Amino acid sequence: MNELLRVAIQKSGRLQEGSLQLLKDCGLNISNGSEQLKTQAQNFPVEILFLRDDDIPQYIEDGVADAGIIGENIFTEKQKQGEVIKHLDFARCRLALAVPRTTEYTGINWFDGKNIATSYPNIVNAYLKRNNIRAGIHEISGSVEIAPSIGLADAICDIVSTGSTLLSNGLKEVELVMKSEAVLVSGKLDPSKKQILSKLVFRIEAVQQARNNKYILLNCPNKSIEPITRVIPGMKSPTILPLGKPGWSSLHSVVDENDFWEKIDQLKNLGAEGILVVPIEKMIK
Ligand code: ATP
Ligand code: MG
Repeated sequence: MNELLRVAIQKSGRLQEGSLQLLKDCGLNISNGSEQLKTQAQNFPVEILFLRDDDIPQYIEDGVADAGIIGENIFTEKQKQGEVIKHLDFARCRLALAVPRTTEYTGINWFDGKNIATSYPNIVNAYLKRNNIRAGIHEISGSVEIAPSIGLADAICDIVSTGSTLLSNGLKEVELVMKSEAVLVSGKLDPSKKQILSKLVFRIEAVQQARNNKYILLNCPNKSIEPITRVIPGMKSPTILPLGKPGWSSLHSVVDENDFWEKIDQLKNLGAEGILVVPIEKMIK
């Protein structure tokens, strides 16, 4: 039997959709029946395990799963063996320290001698140590935000994305402890599984590059070709095709999503017209 790479992803929660979407965009044909815990891609040697995110690092260390998609926060906290292979650009959030809103916060030394409730004792301990702070840690597995209001702790350390949960619990964010996003983690693999993983990583990179870039088509007077090429050089150079109208060309290139609006303004100023911008499905440099 040919070998399969076992990839663990979150069964349900904030990582699940992004993980499945990424694997599907990589061309893996995955059917995720609602209560299925294991499924095999029909067209790629990968088996998907659906697990709780907290359990994935242990499974990778034990070799039950070969790789997994989890938040960096969980991977760092669990301190299990495994290697971050790729940052995946989704499930971005941060771990932050928060104190009651009415607190007169004077800086990190405020935490000296205080009690902090968190689900991330290892990360918080390491952070406090780096900052020479001695504080107590009260580990709880959920509903961390209510800890100060019920007298369980003076402060908390938890995941924040918009801050609205903190606000509604009368807390304010005071220190950034760690930034996190979804990552692909791998355990120790034999050569044949390593080969499957590198094929998968190659596809992930093609998907990520495509997501970060747009294909751009525009018309311009021939005299603008050179300055426009400097603005959107593309992967090697733009494609230039003559238009039916004499003295004009159609120019095709690739533009980084992040510089997009700024570049459009520059292109218009250089005489570009009829600008079309279309998504790219896969991109291999
Ligand atoms: P499980 O049942 O699998 O244990 P969970 O309840 O522990 O799930 P989720 O709330 O689904 O976990 O969050 C999973 C991961 O998603 C977190 O560890 C973090 O990396 C990321 N995450 C959490 N909250 C947010 C957010 N608001 N925005 C973006 N990413 C987030
Ligand atoms: Mg969890």
